[in-house]
Amino acid sequence: MRMKPNRIVLWICLLLVGGFLVTSLASYFVSRASLRREIDQNTLPLTSDNIYSEIQRDLLRPIFISSLMAHDTFLRDWILDGEQEPERISRYLKEIQSKYDTVTSFFVSEKSRIYYHSNGILKKVDPAEERDRWYFRVREMAAEHEINVDPDMANRDAMTIFINHKVYDYAGNYLGATGVGLTVSAVKALIESYRQRFNRDIFFVDPQGKLTLSSTAFAGKGQSLQQIPGLAPLAETILGGDSLALNYQRDGRTVHLNTRYIKEFDWILLVEQDEGRALSKINHALMFNLGICALVTLVVLLITYRALASYQRRLEDWAATDKLTGAYNRKGIDSFFDQTRADCQRSGSAISVILFDLDHFKRVNDHHGHQAGDAVLQEVARRVRAEVRESDLFFRWGGEEFLLLLKGCPLESALELAEKVRAAIGTPPLSYEGQKIPMTASFGVAEFLGGEDLDSLTRRVDQALYQAKAKGRNRVESSPDQPRMPAAAQVGIAAQG
Ligand code: GH3
Ligand code: MG
Ligand code: MG
Repeated sequence: MRMKPNRIVLWICLLLVGGFLVTSLASYFVSRASLRREIDQNTLPLTSDNIYSEIQRDLLRPIFISSLMAHDTFLRDWILDGEQEPERISRYLKEIQSKYDTVTSFFVSEKSRIYYHSNGILKKVDPAEERDRWYFRVREMAAEHEINVDPDMANRDAMTIFINHKVYDYAGNYLGATGVGLTVSAVKALIESYRQRFNRDIFFVDPQGKLTLSSTAFAGKGQSLQQIPGLAPLAETILGGDSLALNYQRDGRTVHLNTRYIKEFDWILLVEQDEGRALSKINHALMFNLGICALVTLVVLLITYRALASYQRRLEDWAATDKLTGAYNRKGIDSFFDQTRADCQRSGSAISVILFDLDHFKRVNDHHGHQAGDAVLQEVARRVRAEVRESDLFFRWGGEEFLLLLKGCPLESALELAEKVRAAIGTPPLSYEGQKIPMTASFGVAEFLGGEDLDSLTRRVDQALYQAKAKGRNRVESSPDQPRMPAAAQVGIAAQG
């Protein structure tokens, strides 16, 4: 069976590529799944916790300050004393403002309806006025405090987050509302700083899903949860839950989302992370792996191909040539002959064969030993090779019988060559371990007739050799059936016929 290196290399290639692909992709999917799990279960909840505690520190502080003001005995005593000397309350509010670094601080009296702030009296609140509605809402609300985003009149109408806290006297009677305000831009900057520190998108929604505050990256993506692409179907779940871990698709990527209800604001904090960045490392690792795999496959293929090719070449040589003499084996002659015939038909040139057999070779073995016989065969082969052309094919036909297949050689030239070879074998006598071994050979020569096959040609040349033996050995005889006409012409006829 003929070995096909290309097939073997192809199979190795398929196995390697298949194996590498399976392991690389499997490890990619496993890493991706564990990355997602890590984000959902650890990274995101942890950052969300961090952000939550920062928010508590930074945003809940004003709530505590407001509560502190509402329970301050000075404030309450001053109200109960009939709001004497307004500069005293202004000083108090100014102290609060500068001590706690808020943008505003205020008190609105229920009795006088006067709006006091750090710089004095601002105005009187009026239920008929749109801008004062907040006060009457606070007065009626059940909760102790609220957070309200409004323009601040005392501060050139800058959007401000007010913490409005109800004030009661010692008997529990309502006295008014006090509190502090932070500008939205300051709060936004705060959220932006979280975003940059934690590398997550942060936003807040109210219980209806309306976006109340968000990091700048989020701006303009919608006014409410229901309008954010991908989040709309989850809005109900998010608004109904206390603290959730969810996933949704945005722009073809998975976004991991963590939610948390913040009681003090009555807002929901949403922290989300696009897995793209984390995933890109895994993607790079996959590309790197595949690159290495491709390289390894290529190198293995190259090595295998070269090894196989040289192995096959050696196998073919080994199978085709005779170990002792280096001449081709008889069994290889068919393909050589076909090739030779094809070449010569194309060029219209003749083909001849010479078959020769060493004379009384048995005696060499008998007198000098088998090893001497081998050495004689080797020396004969060497001498023959020295006489023929590169293109002449030299076969060991049998034990001490050799055949020369001569390309582009008519009978006459073949006869001449046979004579030369005969002379070369005969002189000088061969020598083995200091002993002279005279040797001769008998030769048959035939030219290929266009119409015949290899069997017929070898039969004819064998007959010629037989004649040479019969006529006394050490001579050259041509085939008795050889017609006397130009050989090349015969090949031509055969080619046309
Ligand atoms: P003839 O002139 O009629 O050809 O006589 P011969 O002795 O050469 O012919 P025969 O066929 O009787 O003997 C051939 C001998 O060649 C017999 C065989 O042992 C020997 N022989 C064949 N192959 C080898 C070989 O590879 N090495 C050695 N040493 N001897 C071999
Ligand atoms: Mg012989
Ligand atoms: Mg013989």
